[in-house]
Amino acid sequence: MRKISANYIFPINAKPIKNGVLTIEDDGKITELSDMSENSETSDNIEFYEGIVCPGFVNAHCHLELSHLKNLIPQHTGIVGFITEISEQRNVADAAEQLRLAKFYDEFMHAQGIVAVGDISNNDLTFELKKQSKIFYHTFVEVFSRNESEMNKILQKNQTIVDYGKRLGLSISPTLHAPYSMCDKLFSEIKLRAQQYGILSYHNQETQAENDYFENNSGDFLTFYEKFKMPDNPTPTGKTAIHRLLENINKQTKILLVHNTFTSENDYDFAVAACKNITWTLCPQSNLYIENRLPPVEMLRRKNAKIAIGTDSLSSNTDISIIAELLAISEKFKDITLAELLTWATINGAKALGKDDILGTLETGKTPGIVLIKNVDLQKMKLTEKSQSVIL
Ligand SMILES: [Zn+2]
Repeated sequence: MRKISANYIFPINAKPIKNGVLTIEDDGKITELSDMSENSETSDNIEFYEGIVCPGFVNAHCHLELSHLKNLIPQHTGIVGFITEISEQRNVADAAEQLRLAKFYDEFMHAQGIVAVGDISNNDLTFELKKQSKIFYHTFVEVFSRNESEMNKILQKNQTIVDYGKRLGLSISPTLHAPYSMCDKLFSEIKLRAQQYGILSYHNQETQAENDYFENNSGDFLTFYEKFKMPDNPTPTGKTAIHRLLENINKQTKILLVHNTFTSENDYDFAVAACKNITWTLCPQSNLYIENRLPPVEMLRRKNAKIAIGTDSLSSNTDISIIAELLAISEKFKDITLAELLTWATINGAKALGKDDILGTLETGKTPGIVLIKNVDLQKMKLTEKSQSVIL
């Protein structure tokens, strides 16, 4: 049994407790959360930390298998330039090196307090390591192809990977990549399969070019399809890209809409009318890396959107750090409190992955992982450039 205290404990489901004391069993289960006055007789046994203690973080969007692409893709290329680079660099390292770096970053994530990850996989490279990991992963097995003739082969491969993950005991389901990267038939088939699992993750409106393409068949994707000899769909819909997924969706499906950098208020209103269970998953560092732009945080907050935080992969981020993601937002949107940011990074991600029964808050009976955030400005209650997180 351990007793852990800090300048402040943020339970997330309740107000921060100054000098709070958290009691946990050896298996990490919380048995009590109280203040110091109730622990005066046992104060010798209390581990005290300078900083803030909160529940383990949930990284709601990552691609662990792309960890070998760190520092290889230039910044600010826009999404079309980025996808071009990824397709050229995807296999610069051999499988053993890819696996070595995936394992390194799995341990790296856990050390800084990430206890659950919504992870996109296009192959099964990381499955054995996920099985061994201290982190809970939900794996979304992603597909894309604009080429209808490849469809059966791709569907079969997706099924084989999902089945293999299930045999290993992973939490796993099929998912769609993005509106611009899939032909109609593949899109409909995977959407159907994902809805049967009740959960999907989807790259939404990461670039203005997505909206241009679907609204009026213009923009950067036309050049992209031409360059890679991909079939184009010449019928403009007059609707933004978000409509492609959400029209005729099962309203109860849990959906992680990832990025949303070019999502308007109208798009938001349409989305929440179409589906009751959307988590707006923001990866600000990745958006700055690729498009040099942040998502519409003010609009999402005004609408009371359920927001979660992802790091995306190291192909479009200089680091895998929840603190860095939160700092990128709090430096631009200064009125957001630390408590609100931590809600996004903990319980909202846990709910999105269906793990809020054990993760996301410091409540008795849960095993959420205990995180210390050091070097916080405790007067202003703000993260600083020096803030760091560590699992306790
Ligand atoms: Zn992604």
